[in-house]
Amino acid sequence: MTLRELAEYFHRLEQTTSRLEMADILRDLLERAEGEEVDKVVYLTLGELMPPFRGVEFGISEKLAIEALSKACGVKVKTIEGLYKERGDLGEIAQELIKWQGRSLSLLKVYQELLDIALTRGTLDKVMRLINLLKGLSGFEAKYAIRIIVGKLRLGVGDATIIDALSLLAGYKDLKQTIERAYNLCSDIGLVAKKLKEGGISALEDFKIQVGYPIRMALAERVSSAEEIIKKLGRCALEVKYDGFRLQVHKEDQKVEIYSRNLERMTEMFPDIVKGILEDLSFKYVILEGEALAINEETGEFYPFQITIQRKRKYGIEEYSKEYPLKLFCFDLLYLEGEDYTVKPFIERRRKLEEVLRKTNTLKLSEMIITDQVKEVENFFEEAITRGLEGIMAKRLDAPYTAGSRNFNWIKLKRSYKGSLADTIDVVILGYYYGKGARSKLGIGGVLVGVYDPQRDTFKTVSKVGSGFTEEEWIKLKKLLDEIKLEHKHARVDSLISADVWVEPRYVITVRSDEITRSPLHTAGRTIEEPGYALRFPRAVSFIREDKAPEDANTVEEIKRLYELQRKVSIE
Ligand code: AMP
Repeated sequence: MTLRELAEYFHRLEQTTSRLEMADILRDLLERAEGEEVDKVVYLTLGELMPPFRGVEFGISEKLAIEALSKACGVKVKTIEGLYKERGDLGEIAQELIKWQGRSLSLLKVYQELLDIALTRGTLDKVMRLINLLKGLSGFEAKYAIRIIVGKLRLGVGDATIIDALSLLAGYKDLKQTIERAYNLCSDIGLVAKKLKEGGISALEDFKIQVGYPIRMALAERVSSAEEIIKKLGRCALEVKYDGFRLQVHKEDQKVEIYSRNLERMTEMFPDIVKGILEDLSFKYVILEGEALAINEETGEFYPFQITIQRKRKYGIEEYSKEYPLKLFCFDLLYLEGEDYTVKPFIERRRKLEEVLRKTNTLKLSEMIITDQVKEVENFFEEAITRGLEGIMAKRLDAPYTAGSRNFNWIKLKRSYKGSLADTIDVVILGYYYGKGARSKLGIGGVLVGVYDPQRDTFKTVSKVGSGFTEEEWIKLKKLLDEIKLEHKHARVDSLISADVWVEPRYVITVRSDEITRSPLHTAGRTIEEPGYALRFPRAVSFIREDKAPEDANTVEEIKRLYELQRKVSIE
């Protein structure tokens, strides 16, 4: 396949906002690609070179890309900057400026070039390579190459769309589960596509966990009382809910990798944990999960989350790790010495975890009890709250580790669900408004936000949020949103109201609200018969949550449940 052919598919994808049509186009594309091309095709379509957990980045800013384009085309930097201010799309500008035909390069060759650019260290060398590449591309090809390089391809295709296309390719709808399972076990949709293409569906049926490929994390549902926990699970395990960073640790020999809840590679951020793992574990292959947090060694108390979170930084990590070394409170074992533990019942995983962590220092075992008594759940919860913890987690004793899904195998009970909506809600920014009055000088006065609908893989509106940010935060937010603004509503956004500026659904913020009400204006939970759900008096309580992907926002179902809980509480 040539780059030109791929670019033609990109062009077709750009022309549609229908997800079904997108999946069809992608199906054709994946069919066309050869086995050794298909993973690269997938990554490039997603605007990447590799799955995000590999942490490979181009390291080319728009400014550098403009410089390279200027050198390649012999047009002044100033001129390109002017055009860029007007249009905001370097790809389009490249297409216009490049007059030559290009060398009709193969996709594999261009992919390799792009990878070399990303892996080259020095800025100057990167730019030289980019200039070289541009000289071999036609305008049409360069349009997409540049967009990929500056991180703005934005075809509206996500991993879920690729999964749909792969199930079309595999031919039967019921194969989707097999594809999803493989994806949940490796988080690498390119790899899944390649296996399917090369070995057919049976290759995916045999798919195995591999150290170094993060497993998509299991998530918890929530309830509002101890009673509900026992009603749902019967005899179950209770653990305290630690408030730190959820980490998935992979160890193979002396090599350790750490992934965040978002499946980003975070190894460099936790040198103390890496060291601890190597000292604590003598096994060759291990994958386990835990929550990392800072603890006061003298008193044994947990430091507040504000201290733990300081570790999220680029510089000074060594100093912080000395001042506030983190401990990892482990709560699950997923893989050990070649054996897949995700399929085993929780209680079996836990017993093995206890064995694995018998003599450890940095790795600690999460506190756990087993009970079928409501009273005991209440006591365990109260005690956790008194110690300043967030709440408790209940776990179904016979459940496997359900990678990539949120269900009642794990249940969280958090502080103060009673009364008005004490729980915060994570929402995704879908667009913004210019704002009126004093705000209008900032050019942004509010954001349109939504929650996630996993069934449809779309974002549905729940509110406009216009308070909670400082003036500096609004300015910063506008800048970030302008970088991902779109001509029209994103294909995955379902909204009845319009925004002044639509953006790619990427950023999650946490909001607090007094109440959830029903509203015909919003699409979350809306059906032909019933109005949607809306947040009343919403205010932001966090800036952008970098630890959360848009799909980690609260879901429509959760909003519905919160609405019902709130009704129950007010009736009582
Ligand atoms: P939430 O982020 O409110 O959906 O709560 C689920 C999160 O609680 C998980 O993703 C973990 O980061 C965290 N957590 C803390 N303690 C535990 C535990 N003992 N078991 C599982 N998850 C835990």
